[in-house]
Amino acid sequence: MPIRQVAILGSTGSIGVNTLDVIRAHPERFKVVALTAGKQVDRLAEQCVEFKPAIAVVTDAAAAARLSTLLLEKKIHTHVLYGPQALVTAVTESGCDTVMAAIVGAAGLLPALAAAQAGKRVLLANKEALVMSGDLFMQAMKHGGGELLPIDSEHNAIYQCLPKDFTNAPYNSQGVEELWLTASGGPFRDTPVEQLSNVTPDQACAHPNWVMGRKISVDSATMMNKGLEVIEAFWLFGLPLEKIKVLIHPQSVVHSMVRYRDGSVIAQLGQPDMRTPIAYGLAWPERIEAGVAPLSLTQLATLSFTEPDLARFPCLSLAFAAAQAGGTAPSVLNAANEIAVAAFLDEGMPYLQIPIIVEKTLSAISVTNASSLELILEMDAQARAVARDLIQEMRT
Ligand code: NAD
Ligand code: MG
Repeated sequence: MPIRQVAILGSTGSIGVNTLDVIRAHPERFKVVALTAGKQVDRLAEQCVEFKPAIAVVTDAAAAARLSTLLLEKKIHTHVLYGPQALVTAVTESGCDTVMAAIVGAAGLLPALAAAQAGKRVLLANKEALVMSGDLFMQAMKHGGGELLPIDSEHNAIYQCLPKDFTNAPYNSQGVEELWLTASGGPFRDTPVEQLSNVTPDQACAHPNWVMGRKISVDSATMMNKGLEVIEAFWLFGLPLEKIKVLIHPQSVVHSMVRYRDGSVIAQLGQPDMRTPIAYGLAWPERIEAGVAPLSLTQLATLSFTEPDLARFPCLSLAFAAAQAGGTAPSVLNAANEIAVAAFLDEGMPYLQIPIIVEKTLSAISVTNASSLELILEMDAQARAVARDLIQEMRT
């Protein structure tokens, strides 16, 4: 069995650390050849000492100098690079055959696209890449000839529930009727709406079932995350939007489902632990030990499912609307949301302003065709500027 050569984009984050945890248990199967991080240089240095990748990437020159010093002290000969283009180099020049795309937000788009174009096995956690440029990304995968394995737990579940080689033929020729994405409803599922005006970042990030990075945790609280996931599913699986449904399932045990024409509904169940989809993607089509405790159905009191309340979760409606509008609308939605969430997390912007910023940004920018990467990036920049101005105006 050849050893998989793995590059991890965003290795210091929640998904990155879980990926290394799975890899650590299987040294005979996986070799880490590239690791990248934003600001957490110390954690990246520790990872380099343990996994000895050929390349490590950080965001700027100062961080690169610090990392180089730390690695020199430990006599580790990892090549240290910095900047957005270096993330692409980590994909194209590290000798990897497998790329875990786990940078959060639009920053992850270019290296994920590079991995698609280069024909790698792409383990896609960075849903924002598909939201922004789903069409281009799927085309790049096709031209590159690599394998795309969704890591987002819902999409990984659906992938497991669909027929083999599903995307090679129309969905309805294979008896598939609908995809059902489950959502926990986040920490504010039952909180009276009038109490949401004062929620703090720590409350919003205290997800009942999953431990995740702060941006996706806030997205789970607003349910923007599920909206982004509907768009992600649309591009990954090619079903019409109206065939992709969202169900609130507070226990996070059924990770998602596929409804078939004959009345069958196939679900994937498991612990809410990202090491399951990560191990699935790394070893596919084999199954390996992921370090995840077995699911005990008898210890679960109930499994329940309800329709989401769109009045409580305006971000979900905004995402549905942007998905329907198509073109550059999902990029604008995503960019405005990234800015609004960052303002909530770091600048004290009230939680309830997140959907307001996103809605106003969407109505300020007209939708065009998402035909080129340049255009998508331009729209992303424009939306960020509009959202920043709106936040500034609300402050004054
Ligand atoms: P995180 O915030 O914990 O980690 C993000 C990683 O990206 C870190 O390594 C960080 O250093 C790096 N990074 C951030 N900004 C960067 C920049 N500008 N340039 C380069 N690197 C940068 O996030 P996470 O929870 O691990 O999520 C990563 C991605 O996976 C997101 O797109 C998220 O939506 C998706 N995802 C996460 C989970 C989960 O359970 N955590 C589940 C499904 C999908
Ligand atoms: Mg998910």
